[in-house]
Amino acid sequence: MSLFSKTKRCDICAVETPKSEIYTFINTHDFATHPKEQLFLCQGCFLHKAESYIVSYPHKALVLKPFTKAQKRSGPVEYYHFYVVSILKEYNFEADYIEKVKQLLATNSKCSRCNKSGQYFSVEVGDYYGIDTLANNPGAVSGEWLCPQCYNKEFSNIVTANNLVFKEYNPPISENGVLTNWAG
Ligand SMILES: [Zn+2]
Ligand SMILES: [Zn+2]
Repeated sequence: MSLFSKTKRCDICAVETPKSEIYTFINTHDFATHPKEQLFLCQGCFLHKAESYIVSYPHKALVLKPFTKAQKRSGPVEYYHFYVVSILKEYNFEADYIEKVKQLLATNSKCSRCNKSGQYFSVEVGDYYGIDTLANNPGAVSGEWLCPQCYNKEFSNIVTANNLVFKEYNPPISENGVLTNWAG
């Protein structure tokens, strides 16, 4: 394949896919505790791979909804990264944001859809890092807890309905954390 090819083979199903539609799946940036798994995937294989992590994650995550194309601030590149709470400071998230994340994760609730024990908390409005949403606009927080299965369905629907492609995606892993957008 030429260096200048506009397509790439999906690492799982091997289907030639336009590069602009390839998802880069990276299981974590915390390589000290998890072997790195990095894959270039078509949409179908990406959603299956993400699901395998989402449904086996036994902790709580605060999930800011991924940006739709209209919400992206600049450029075609989108990053949707998971950070464990203990690493937020290292990545320069502000103290009031970290505090708000901790408060929200301390909530206990059942899944808003199926009534099972819920582990994901979704935020309706994703601004740049969700900082304004969380710290200054608590009304934007949906208050909806979803169990991993219902969250997975929701995530898959958002990705397919908006045809979102992630330049880099990390699934929830390791411990309590937050899944948030970076656009650049
Ligand atoms: Zn594939
Ligand atoms: Zn549920």
